[in-house]
Amino acid sequence: MRSNRNKTKLTTRILAFTLIVALLFVVLLGRVGYLQFIKGGELSQMALDQQTKESEINPRRGSILDRNGKELAISASVDTVAVDPKRIREAGNREAVINTLSEVLGVEKADVAKQLDKNSRFEYVKKRIDTAQSKILRSYISGEDENGNELSQELLEKHDLTGVSLIADTKRFYPYGELAAQVLGVVGADNQGLEGLEYEYDAYLKGTAGRIVQSNSAVGSPSFDFEEFYNAQAGSNIKLTIDESIQRIVEKALNEAYIENKAANGGCAIVMNPNTGEILAMATVPTYNLNEPIQIKDPDVLAQLEALEGEEYSKAFVAATSGLKRNKPVVDVYEPGSTFKLITCAMSLEEQVATLEETYNCNGFMHMGGHNIHCWRTAGHGTQTFMTGMVNSCNPVLMQVGAKIGTENFYKNFKLFGFRDVTGIDFPGEAVGSFHAEEAFSEVDLAVSSFGQSFEVTPLQMITAISSLVNGGNLYRPYLVKEIQSADGQPIETILPQKVRQTVSAETSEKMKTVLETVVLQSGSTAYVKGYRIGGKSGTSEKQPRGSNKYIGSFVGVAPVDDPKIVCLVIIDEPTGENYYGGVITAPVAGKIISETLQYYGIEPVYTEEDLQEMDTTVPDVVGKTTEEAKRSLDSFNLKYSVNGNGDQIVAQIPAAGSKVRSSSSITIYTGLKGDPMLIKVPNVVGLSAEAANETLINSGLKMIISGAGSLNGKGIITSQSPAAGALLDEGESVTVYFSKEENQ
Ligand SMILES: [Zn+2]
Repeated sequence: MRSNRNKTKLTTRILAFTLIVALLFVVLLGRVGYLQFIKGGELSQMALDQQTKESEINPRRGSILDRNGKELAISASVDTVAVDPKRIREAGNREAVINTLSEVLGVEKADVAKQLDKNSRFEYVKKRIDTAQSKILRSYISGEDENGNELSQELLEKHDLTGVSLIADTKRFYPYGELAAQVLGVVGADNQGLEGLEYEYDAYLKGTAGRIVQSNSAVGSPSFDFEEFYNAQAGSNIKLTIDESIQRIVEKALNEAYIENKAANGGCAIVMNPNTGEILAMATVPTYNLNEPIQIKDPDVLAQLEALEGEEYSKAFVAATSGLKRNKPVVDVYEPGSTFKLITCAMSLEEQVATLEETYNCNGFMHMGGHNIHCWRTAGHGTQTFMTGMVNSCNPVLMQVGAKIGTENFYKNFKLFGFRDVTGIDFPGEAVGSFHAEEAFSEVDLAVSSFGQSFEVTPLQMITAISSLVNGGNLYRPYLVKEIQSADGQPIETILPQKVRQTVSAETSEKMKTVLETVVLQSGSTAYVKGYRIGGKSGTSEKQPRGSNKYIGSFVGVAPVDDPKIVCLVIIDEPTGENYYGGVITAPVAGKIISETLQYYGIEPVYTEEDLQEMDTTVPDVVGKTTEEAKRSLDSFNLKYSVNGNGDQIVAQIPAAGSKVRSSSSITIYTGLKGDPMLIKVPNVVGLSAEAANETLINSGLKMIISGAGSLNGKGIITSQSPAAGALLDEGESVTVYFSKEENQ
């Protein structure tokens, strides 16, 4: 019975249990059905997320090169530290890893521990570490110091870094620092393009991120079944139309003018190839170093900022520094003033309503629409030809010519020159000037517009239109990038000149070249440089509101005017020095840029008899001499010199031997190496900044590779180089430079 009773009890229990299980099973089935059929998609995605884990590996960002392949923006190699938590658990070196990484990288022990506790095989600890840190970690991982000596067993146990790896990463570096800063733009913390060309061409430059994919078959399982690794794909390089040498010439001349004229609102300049629309140089002042956080140098602005606090300070700081990043030639507008008289002149010749020989009268003003509109010369210019009116920059002459063109034709031609639309340059945020509405464009508006007032254009629109005046009438789309290259430097895509439309006929273009040259020669322009045929026109405009005594001085120049190779526009915004006239403050800057650029192009000056009479010095032949001998020789002729390169022997000189120059003129000498001209002696760059070293190496015909970017904040000093100074390399070969953090060496 007992057994029976027990048996009955047991049976009851089994039954009850079975029933419960069955019930549970039904509930579960329902649940499974619900999960399977109703929430299936959602949940399987969740399961996948729990099972796989991806980590991105940064691709190497493509380089930005000048038109000759000089590196303006590069990605320096740096290390990123990552750990494999599972491997560290297996190796049992958790404490050693935490202590070592915390000590070397300066991160909190708790932060390292947090990464090690993760159920994963790949976690970042610190991205883009500096060179010194890399060196230490590398020695612990390899077991050898940098000289190849084995580390002691004790040291290796203390710093056992099994499961720690250094991953190749990159950091943006601009070898020339300030050069073309506003054009190149900036990248963010993850190397993404934020402004300028870095932004415009981000899709090409950024490359494709690599991935590490980990997977575990069951949720919560500590072991991962497999992992996959996808290599990052480096970004493409972009090759600019900009020529680093011309950019440097422009920035130097512009910056000197900016300082000398105390320009409250800075300035800008563009050099364009009028035959293609290629931008050869584009500069804005003041500027900043792309490798350093933006610093405010203006003492007035600094004083204003010091008086502010909190949010007000932040806002003012952002406002004060954002101006430094503006690529003025493209994103800012200005009133062109008298430089625009060239456009009005071209319109009238093209419409055949005026000739350069016919005469006009100037009494000092013209009465129009109830106003007296004055000539800049209030006494008047009297009777003069149209050509002389252009030389005199006489407003009443242009007003009369404007009236002959008429509102309708003026408006039509204004659009034809591209002033009502963006130029289409490959740069973000291009501005368009403002002009009178077509239906409201009155006779008075026409009169004032004909001498360049009452409207605004961008410097880029202006130089593009002027280029069409001297290239046969072709309005080109200006552009900054001429080639996209693969990461290994093979051309992928070439960007060709693009003609937008015809502005004037070839005949009008020929006449305009004569006008431009006559203006420079007969107005006694300070843009004139002996030996070169330079054409140009200055402009001065008073900023709004009138009477504020704030001016913009500008000059547009063309050279050589009989066969234009360059057009140059220089603008100084709000000069507060002794003078504000464009003809005084910007014409000599343009003259300097033009003559130095033509010399750089190897176009030697050709002198007139008149010029020659003033020239009493015959340039000696210094080719073949040592640099020291050449300097002594030039000194004895009372000539100045600038040396390009740092070889032992002079290989070329400009102007050539036998040329006549004025005493104290500057001779450019180029050096090479004695004996074997194919090999270049590596210069010593230890102790130099990255920028200075790059310049030295490039001048020697070599390239620079940066190892580590920890102290690439513009203050980094090179501590060693490979190969060492004195080694012989072929032209174009690279020298690797290394940094330390010490700044006071
Ligand atoms: Zn006049």
